[in-house]
Amino acid sequence: MDFDLPEELVALREVAARFAAEYAAPYAQTWDREGRYPDSVVAALGEQGFLGALVPEEYGGGGGAYMTLAVILEELARADGGLALAVEAHNALASAHIRLAGSEAQKKRFLPSLATGKHLGCWCLTEPGAGTDAAALSSVAIRDGDDWVLSGSKQFITNGARAGIYVVIARTDPDAGREGISAFILERGTPGLTTGALEDKLGMRSSDTVAVHLEDCRVPADQLLGAEGHAFDDVKEVLEGGRIMISAVSLGLAQAAVDRSVAYANERETFGKAIIEHQLIQAKLADMVTQLHAARLLVYRSASRLDAGRETPLDSAMTKLFSSEMATKVCMDAIQVLGGYGYLKEYDVERFMRDAKLCEIGEGTSEILRVLIARSLRSDRVPGG
Ligand SMILES: Cc1cc2nc3c(=O)[nH]c(=O)nc-3n(C[C@H](O)[C@H](O)[C@H](O)COP(=O)(O)OP(=O)(O)OC[C@H]3O[C@@H](n4cnc5c(N)ncnc54)[C@H](O)[C@@H]3O)c2cc1C
Repeated sequence: MDFDLPEELVALREVAARFAAEYAAPYAQTWDREGRYPDSVVAALGEQGFLGALVPEEYGGGGGAYMTLAVILEELARADGGLALAVEAHNALASAHIRLAGSEAQKKRFLPSLATGKHLGCWCLTEPGAGTDAAALSSVAIRDGDDWVLSGSKQFITNGARAGIYVVIARTDPDAGREGISAFILERGTPGLTTGALEDKLGMRSSDTVAVHLEDCRVPADQLLGAEGHAFDDVKEVLEGGRIMISAVSLGLAQAAVDRSVAYANERETFGKAIIEHQLIQAKLADMVTQLHAARLLVYRSASRLDAGRETPLDSAMTKLFSSEMATKVCMDAIQVLGGYGYLKEYDVERFMRDAKLCEIGEGTSEILRVLIARSLRSDRVPGG
């Protein structure tokens, strides 16, 4: 059992770190203030291969490993959480769902443009009245001859404002509960598909989050994604990977907070010595790096298991629960280590904290993850076994 990254992923980490240092870190404060990153970054991400990490090579991607994407996301998040979230939703939600459930024709048609960054992808599950309780969704798709006609509204959709490809989950049988839910692939420009104004958010501000409205949106039957009525199982499988990948975003934010805290604690002096010499600061830093290290092991283990084709719903839930709460705590502690300067936007750590908080909410809140984990204790299945 080897817990170290293989050489190729160490090399990839360096490439991703260089990319983040050049394209994201210098602009992150501006993007946070203005609530967007420029389109040129999407093109650069595509050229670098970071938008096709989960796409198999035959469709123009990088081969499809979650470990690869985890390494990329961690490095992007160290520079800008919002950009990392955008890349995560594109790869681990939209592309992953098409990779999982798409027909050969759909994969050939949609995956290459997602892999190159010609189109960003978004994944539309949440609705104004259905978040944690996703099966309560009320968007509908009604069969009409050779087409499906979709109506409804989706809420909080990452990449929704810029996406070229929308994976939309809708109800195709009102009486069949979870078995009446299906998925569709829609393209920007489909008549009836519109998006709302950018949400003004606490954190992850550079990523765009919008409502997506569907008004008698007509799509041909060959844009049904997966089997009719079976999307809920596919959604659960997509979220298994998504939760591990958003955990990788948490790692990057926490690592950035640790980096700033350690550098500051070595430099800042009070009472005649660097604050890293004060035991209370030492204890805080020791806890921060230890918690981060533990979360990283969880992320790598879960991503490796997923890549090996193992079932990971519990690993995924525990990884996200631990990593996201770790990141918020570590970022809060970083603010404390920096004292008054930590409270200023100029020093970045308050941004890391605002960004990290989202990871406790998106793709399954901490509450519902605890419910899932606890539920498993009532059966004879041992969590993480
Ligand atoms: C910035 C951002 C980006 C997002 N991106 C996307 C995206 O790209 N695609 C997408 O589909 N969605 C996206 N979401 C939506 C996100 O996944 C939901 O916000 C999340 O699932 C929670 O749903 P909700 O907001 O409706 O909260 P609710 O479900 O209303 O929950 C409210 C509170 O009640 C708690 N709660 C609910 N049910 C239970 C229960 N059974 N037991 C205990 N506690 C419970 C929750 O944990 C939470 O604390 C995004 C959200 C944000 C903020």
